[in-house]
Amino acid sequence: MKLSIRKGDIVEVLSGDDKGRQGKVIEVDAKKGRVKIEGINMVKRHERASGARNPGGIIDKPAFMDRSNVMFVCPRCSRPTRVRWERRGEKRIRVCKSCGGEAGS
Ligand SMILES: [Zn+2]
Repeated sequence: MKLSIRKGDIVEVLSGDDKGRQGKVIEVDAKKGRVKIEGINMVKRHERASGARNPGGIIDKPAFMDRSNVMFVCPRCSRPTRVRWERRGEKRIRVCKSCGGEAGS
């Protein structure tokens, strides 16, 4: 599965409790088509204490969500948008459908 979303991208949430919020992608699961977004879709996890720096307890962590629930936000025009792929020599790069700006490979 070819995902048009990469780690480090900004995406906007399209559905659920965090609808309309934007966040940075911190993990991508290309096989399952899921992404993990900083501060979005938080779930409570029970963590075991592991030394002085991690006292354990209940902490909030972002959980994976389906790629179809988020939309790529163009770094050029800051709009949630679709991207198309264009070939540049050896590379394929993403191009914003709104402004036509290059959005990285
Ligand atoms: Zn754009």
